[in-house]
Amino acid sequence: MAAPTVRRVRFWAGRSALRRRSSAFEAVRRPVSSNCRSLASRPCFAPACTHCEPGAARMTARIINGKAIADAIRAGVAAQAAALACQPGLAVVLVGDDPASAVYVRAKDRAANATGIAAQTLHLPADTSQDDLLAEIARLNADPAVDGILVQLPLPQQIDPVAVQEAMDPAKDVDGFHPLNVGRLVAGRECLAPCTPLGVMRLLRGGGTVLDGARVLVLGRSVLVGRPLVAMLLAADATVTVAHSHTRDLPEACRHAEVLIVAAGRPELVRGNWVRPGATVIDVGVNRLPSGKLVGDVAFDECAVVAGAITPVPGGVGPMTIACLLSNTLTAAVRRRE
Ligand code: NAP
Repeated sequence: MAAPTVRRVRFWAGRSALRRRSSAFEAVRRPVSSNCRSLASRPCFAPACTHCEPGAARMTARIINGKAIADAIRAGVAAQAAALACQPGLAVVLVGDDPASAVYVRAKDRAANATGIAAQTLHLPADTSQDDLLAEIARLNADPAVDGILVQLPLPQQIDPVAVQEAMDPAKDVDGFHPLNVGRLVAGRECLAPCTPLGVMRLLRGGGTVLDGARVLVLGRSVLVGRPLVAMLLAADATVTVAHSHTRDLPEACRHAEVLIVAAGRPELVRGNWVRPGATVIDVGVNRLPSGKLVGDVAFDECAVVAGAITPVPGGVGPMTIACLLSNTLTAAVRRRE
């Protein structure tokens, strides 16, 4: 993979800002203004804050450029795919006419073909029965030209997604949701791992974050993101805490984290004063505001002046998910030919 791709933004206080961090903390032991969301003993560093001393320690985050890291992964996949004797194949199954799903499927199809993976999209009507979909999965399982199968979620309500995941050949399960792959991941064994958490791990490595021994908080415990991430982080020797909607004093829990990974599906839930100064913040969230603006689960402007490194939305985790799908397809193709 290419060297870590990061760029520095908003260098408000110059290089000396980082060196003056500790003295800046001393400087703010005074009453908090009504505008400031900070703890009494800690500056919030929010751009609009009238309490925090201007320029005292406005730490600036490195932006972890997911698009550039994803491009490097895709280039690597393309090179390895070209070196294989047979072209890897990916089948993407779309059931129904959900417009967002159609956009995702087109993007995956295009990205796969652009990296030398033969992608085919199977578009089934919205009233497809579960039995008919399972029959299609069985056909794809048996097709030697297909190395990876992906069924786009969500599925129409008459189809149980778990039944579909369980019907898939685990060796072709490039989404990593088959129970065999889930179990292997938890056990720390070789598997096909879910693409979004895998993308987060590669972003962290690509952005230069050290995980060994690090205190990592994963905000969100979904089967899709939070839970597999916990398994991957443990395998990387991180010290992992999981937070969710029942967690008491969530801001305080977040402030302990040296690495904060947020997958809550709540627009801009994490505020600047939830972030430990210098922490790495990974925002998995993708939320469309009524204004049409796309935001993550992290209030970017506030957090970017506290964090040491942060992912943007868009351009952070999003591009990594598709890159990891391509990488999983290549992995499946190589393993099936061994
Ligand atoms: P999900 O299934 O809805 O899970 C959300 C998790 O966050 C749950 O564990 C929930 O806790 C927790 N949570 C929700 N609100 C909370 C709050 N106020 N305080 C504390 N915890 C809270 O969501 P998901 O599928 O994991 O997705 C999360 C986000 O990532 C979404 O924005 C989604 O669009 C995005 N995403 C992006 C990509 C990508 O490729 N970029 C891929 C997948 C998902 P409980 O378990 O207690 O309910």
